[in-house]
Amino acid sequence: MKTILIGAGAAGLFFAGLYKKDLLILDKNDQAGRKLLATGNGRCNFTNLNLSDDFYFSSNEGFYSYALRTNDNKDLIVYLNSLGILTTNLPSGRCYPQTLSSKTVRDILFMRANGKFIFEEDVLDIDFEKKLVITKDAKYAYDRLVIASGGKSLPGSGSDGKIFKILKKVHSLRDFSYAITNYKCQNPLSKRAKGVRVTAKASLYIDGKFINSSTDDVIFQPYGLTGTAILDLSNQISYGLFKNSDIRVQLDLLSAYDFKEVLDILSALAGKYKDMTLRELLTGFINEKLIFDLVKNTGLREDIKAKSLSAKDLKKITASLKGLEFRIKEINDVENAQVTIGGIDTKFVNPKTFESKNIKDLYFIGEVLDVDGACGGYNIQWAYSSAKACADYLNKN
Ligand SMILES: Cc1cc2nc3c(=O)[nH]c(=O)nc-3n(C[C@H](O)[C@H](O)[C@H](O)COP(=O)(O)OP(=O)(O)OC[C@H]3O[C@@H](n4cnc5c(N)ncnc54)[C@H](O)[C@@H]3O)c2cc1C
Repeated sequence: MKTILIGAGAAGLFFAGLYKKDLLILDKNDQAGRKLLATGNGRCNFTNLNLSDDFYFSSNEGFYSYALRTNDNKDLIVYLNSLGILTTNLPSGRCYPQTLSSKTVRDILFMRANGKFIFEEDVLDIDFEKKLVITKDAKYAYDRLVIASGGKSLPGSGSDGKIFKILKKVHSLRDFSYAITNYKCQNPLSKRAKGVRVTAKASLYIDGKFINSSTDDVIFQPYGLTGTAILDLSNQISYGLFKNSDIRVQLDLLSAYDFKEVLDILSALAGKYKDMTLRELLTGFINEKLIFDLVKNTGLREDIKAKSLSAKDLKKITASLKGLEFRIKEINDVENAQVTIGGIDTKFVNPKTFESKNIKDLYFIGEVLDVDGACGGYNIQWAYSSAKACADYLNKN
């Protein structure tokens, strides 16, 4: 029984470590886990202590539930520990290797993997009838084929999506987009605010309906918004863009204070420092590089004297501080998006074994499937959960 695995990325490496039978692994790169090296800013945020279906998205909702439940975050931590990868986590729940180096994870998964690896072997075609994987110089016969070729994001890492042309011959694909990335806004802040990083509560509204929020870093760029809070909301933003919905992100720049507290403090200051300008009043509230845009948003001028501010003006300023609104126009950076939306239509894949319902002995694991996880370790968790479910089934059958 010969099994071929296409892709030595996260899912492929997990599979190769868990599969106990004869295995040949083909990857177009010259080394395993190239994308894995880039994960978590080089630190590999491999899972999250807060794991639930809420952090996963697919056009076939719930497809991911079984694998995630049977091979969850605790299971992954125990597995990594058993390989000799010690782990740690942040208060946010994000889990990392103790070394805080993704190279540790890549190296150890590769060292402990079973099977024979052939690198720089680009799969150019697959003959699903004759069960042959075709590369430039060879044809490899298989009994079982496991495809772990990833999505389309960060194409330089090997997952350039070319393989989808081959897979399309036998499987329907869901439309592609990208998530865990940054966004162009219709109303970005001016260049004065370029690169300013704040901690804010970012709330996402799609077609007027509140969807989700995240309190973390937000970075203002001339094109629009980036930062961890935006990455946290990114899957839902990208799905909204897909549907041409009206997408707005409201930033609460003073989330530790409620509206009345901010208004009271601002009103008291305006009463005390009557001859100071609005800019001077706000200097202790937010990064001074943001004051111009914040005040412009209210229709007031920075140099207006405190004594001229009406109660209505003070409310407007408070509203701007507590709900600076951006309209999201489009994805800014497709190439460096951390995850691909879309891929193999999971309606035609068994959620327990990951076998194709169209073609016997063909399996899909990881990001090649139409499943995307949120920012925070959920995609490597998916690579593991799907690989483990598939390997467990194949080890027994
Ligand atoms: C910058 C960045 C940071 C990220 N950070 C995190 C993070 O901190 N936490 C997290 O959970 N997720 C993170 N992700 C997402 C995560 O890396 C992916 O979801 C995960 O690597 C997917 O695993 P995979 O094995 O399915 O695909 P990949 O890891 O992309 O592996 C696919 C493999 O298949 C090979 N391949 C593709 N086509 C062919 C072909 N035709 N022939 C031969 N080989 C082929 C590729 O060379 C590649 O090695 C990040 C992604 C990026 C881009």
